[in-house]
Amino acid sequence: MKYQRPKGTKDFLPEEARKASYVEEVFRQTCALFGFQEIRTPILEPKELFLRATGAETEIVQKEMYLFFDRSGRELALRPEGTPGVIRAVIEGGLNPPQRLFYLGPMFRYEKPQKGRFRQHHQLGIEVLGEKGPYTDAEVLFLATTFLSAIGIKDYQILLNSLGCQNCSPAFSQALKAFLSSEEKKLCPDCQGRLLRNPLRILDCKNENCQKIYQFGPKIKDYLCSDCSEHFASFLSYLPQLGIKNYRLAENLVRGIDYYTRTVFEFVSERLGSQNSFGGGGRYDNLFADLGGEKTPAIGFALGLERILMLLPEGEKEEPAIIFIAFLSPADFEKGKEIITTLRSARLKVIVGEVGERLKGQLKRANSYQARWVVIVGEEELKKGAVSVKDMKTGEQREIRKEELLNFLK
Ligand SMILES: [Zn+2]
Ligand SMILES: [Zn+2]
Repeated sequence: MKYQRPKGTKDFLPEEARKASYVEEVFRQTCALFGFQEIRTPILEPKELFLRATGAETEIVQKEMYLFFDRSGRELALRPEGTPGVIRAVIEGGLNPPQRLFYLGPMFRYEKPQKGRFRQHHQLGIEVLGEKGPYTDAEVLFLATTFLSAIGIKDYQILLNSLGCQNCSPAFSQALKAFLSSEEKKLCPDCQGRLLRNPLRILDCKNENCQKIYQFGPKIKDYLCSDCSEHFASFLSYLPQLGIKNYRLAENLVRGIDYYTRTVFEFVSERLGSQNSFGGGGRYDNLFADLGGEKTPAIGFALGLERILMLLPEGEKEEPAIIFIAFLSPADFEKGKEIITTLRSARLKVIVGEVGERLKGQLKRANSYQARWVVIVGEEELKKGAVSVKDMKTGEQREIRKEELLNFLK
């Protein structure tokens, strides 16, 4: 074949595109029920935004960003995640918190393609801006679980941790640094650099050896200040009250992004195999200020559409049947064309065949479109004020009066 899609990208052919649209539609409806509004931001953003927000020491920024210079020499990134662009847009657009926002769209990461992992993938995300209390953290998870349950995904778990705040996380970083310094030589070259600049990032190193070493290191939970401990405990207490029971604490969960504070979480399902995560998020109380806005507490999550499609149960609701209309001649079209709008106004799906094409050809085409019914509009029937309707399942054909057609097809 002459042309192929770029490595790590994916085509959504109609059957899968239909499932994707269905998932997106349920997501939109769920967000609306929780009082969220949509926001759309560019796929292109300045590279510096992600350096500052996502973090210069993260795998995402160091290894996975698509970067290029445009024709004027600006260095741009294809967004690797949604949150930094949303916060930039909120600050730039002068939106005043509190705000509840959701977004859908493609994200780009130059990763090794694997099952369910693409270089262009799609995220469904939300952000709550300007709410600092622990109930909001629970409400955000409640939205996620409500959405997942609405599309029939049940067998998953939510991993939870707290990363502390500006007051308590430096002490943990120090302790981690002290612990890992004695093991420095055994760490991978990346982590040796992180040890100096951002030791927390060592916790999401994918190198097995590094993982083994920090297993025995200090734990964040032992360093949380009383405010952070209380926030986390209160958040946890709301979950069972909201019917959320499928969670467990994960003391090494840090989520691979610099801006998280306090609550972080990840959605995992064993059905996905070794790449078992299908989304996650957390609180980011400092990001607004880091990006030049007013200090504003915030929390959000993003779910990966491609992974959700892998988890989607088979046989979600059937598409309404297609009705194919075959006009046998231009004159028949002129006399019978109101049928098209009558049916479409009643929300029926209508494909109109090429006017005047031989019936045999039109039936063949109707079959390719998997039409359920073919309405044949021809001179003889029209004289009687009727049309012929062919049932494509049984092959049976009958005459129906024009004014009864809609009722019959409904
Ligand atoms: Zn704290
Ligand atoms: Zn490492």
